[in-house]
Amino acid sequence: METTRNISSKMVVGHSISAPASVILIVDDMATNLKVLRGHLAKTKHQLSFASSGSQALERVSITRPDLILLDLMMPEMDGLEVCQRLKLSYQTADIPIIFLTASHEDEHLLQAFELGAVDYVTKPFRPSELLARIETHLSLAHLQTQLQQRALQETILRHVIEDLHSSFDLRTILSRAAAHIKSFITVDRVLICRCFSSDSCAIMTTTDPAFQPTALPIELQTFQSRAQVSVIQSDSLKAGDAEWLKRWDVHTELRFPIFQKTELWGAMIVHLSSDSLPDSSINLLQTVVEQLQIAIQQFDLYSQLQTAKGELSETVDELEQANSELERIAHIDSLTQLANRRYFDTYIDREWLRLRREHQPLTIILMDIDYFKLYNDAYGHLQGDVCLRAVAQALREVLKRPADVLARYGGEEFVALLPKTDKTGAVQMAQYMQHAIAQFNVPHAASRVSDRITISLGIATRIPTQHDSWLNLLNDADKALYQAKENGRNQCSIADALSLQVTTQESVT
Ligand code: GH3
Ligand code: MG
Ligand code: MG
Repeated sequence: METTRNISSKMVVGHSISAPASVILIVDDMATNLKVLRGHLAKTKHQLSFASSGSQALERVSITRPDLILLDLMMPEMDGLEVCQRLKLSYQTADIPIIFLTASHEDEHLLQAFELGAVDYVTKPFRPSELLARIETHLSLAHLQTQLQQRALQETILRHVIEDLHSSFDLRTILSRAAAHIKSFITVDRVLICRCFSSDSCAIMTTTDPAFQPTALPIELQTFQSRAQVSVIQSDSLKAGDAEWLKRWDVHTELRFPIFQKTELWGAMIVHLSSDSLPDSSINLLQTVVEQLQIAIQQFDLYSQLQTAKGELSETVDELEQANSELERIAHIDSLTQLANRRYFDTYIDREWLRLRREHQPLTIILMDIDYFKLYNDAYGHLQGDVCLRAVAQALREVLKRPADVLARYGGEEFVALLPKTDKTGAVQMAQYMQHAIAQFNVPHAASRVSDRITISLGIATRIPTQHDSWLNLLNDADKALYQAKENGRNQCSIADALSLQVTTQESVT
C-alpha cells in the first residue's frame, strides 16, 4: 500500500496548549495512595504506570519513559529526594517533570526537593481538581519545551543545510551534501537523490550508503502529483517483486519527496527506514530541505547556462580578436608581394623619425624602381609582370636583416627600404646588396635597354632627424636621387646631396 500525504496540512506544530496523551508514573510506598491516585486519574486520556518503591520507580522509568512522575517524598529505603537526584543525573531522564507528593508535616523537605529539580508538589490528602490541573500544566509545559528544543534544532540544521547547499555550484556536491546532512541529523537508514529522465528511467545521483548499488530502482516516480506530497511505501504492503526488492535492501518504509523544477518533475529524494515512519517534525524538516534543494538545483542550472554563455562569448571574442588582427595585418600588407604597404610605411616612418630624433641617430631611405618595367610587361605580359614583382620583392626582403628594417612596396614597381640607425656608408652597402640580390635572381628582361636581365635603380637619402626637418623631405631627397640614377643610365645607385654615385652595374656585380 502506498499512502500519499499532503505535507502542507501537517506543517502546523505546537499551537495547542493541551498536551497529547502521555505516560504518567505514580510512585508511592502506600498501596492506598496508589489506588486513590489511580481513581483520580482514571478518567484522563493519560496512560498510568505504578511503582511502590524508589528502586522500582527507577526501573519503571527506564522501561516506560514516562512524560511526568508523581513521586512520594517519604519512602523507606530510597526516598523521593534520592530518586529525584538520580533521575536528574542522566540526560535521558533529567527533563522528565517531577511533582512531589507530600504530607503537610513534610514541608521542610520541599525546599530541598525544588533544589533537586522538582517542578511542583501536591499535598495529601489530594484535591482531585488541583492535582489534575497541576499535572496538565506541567505536561503542557514539558511538551512545549520539547517542541521548542526540536524547533531550535531544526532551525540549526536548516541553516547549516542552506548555507552548505548554496556555497557550491557543482550539482553532485550539492546533492551529496544535502543527503549527508539529512543522514547526520535525522534517524534514517539511507538517503538517495534520484534524477528522473522519463516516466520509467531514473538514476541515483547520490546516496549516503556506498554499498547501495541496485541495478535498477523499481520505483515509478511519476506517481507524484504535486510538489506538496510525500509518499510512504511500507514494504509489507507492496507487490511481491517490489516488496522483495525493498526487503533485500532492509527497507521497511520508503519516503519519497518529489523534487520539481518549475512544474516539471526533476527527481526525488528517497529516504529508507527500517522502522515504520518518521515523526511529522522530521518529515516537515525533510520537506523544507527538499525545497531548498530545488532552489539550489535551479541556481546550479542558471550558473551552468551562464558558464556556457560565457564560454561562447569568450570564443566569439577570441574569433573577433583574431579577425581584427587579421584585418589589421591585411590593412598593412600589399597583397601581391606580401611586403608592407605604403600606409604601413607612412605610420612606421613617422614613429622612427621621432625615435631617432630623440636618439640623434641617422635614418636612411632607399627608394628603388625596376628599370624599363613597362617594356617588361609589354614583352612578357602583365601576369608575368606580377611574377617578376614578387620575385624582386623576395630578393630585396632577404637583404634586410635587422628587426627594425622595413621594406615596403611603395607603388607599382617601386619599393622603399627604411633603415634606422644606418649612415651613408651602411646605406651604400645595403644598396649594393640589393642590386646584387636582384642580379642573383637572374630574371631575363630581353626588352631592357640597360641589360638583358631585370635591374633596378636606387636613390639613397640619409640623415639624423631634427625638429625643423621632416621625413617627407628625406623621402623627397631619396626620390630625387632615384631620378638621378635613372637619368644617369639606370641600374645604379645615387645618393642625395652628393654627386651621382655610379656604385655598381649589374654586370660588374654578377
Ligand atoms: P623606368 O626605367 O624609367 O622606371 O621605366 P618604367 O617602364 O619602369 O617606368 P614607367 O613608370 O613608365 O612604367 C612602370 C610600369 O610598371 C607601368 C605599369 O604598367 C607597370 N606596373 C605598375 N604596377 C604593376 C603591377 O602591379 N603589375 C604589373 N605587371 N605591372 C605594373
Ligand atoms: Mg620603372
Ligand atoms: Mg616607376
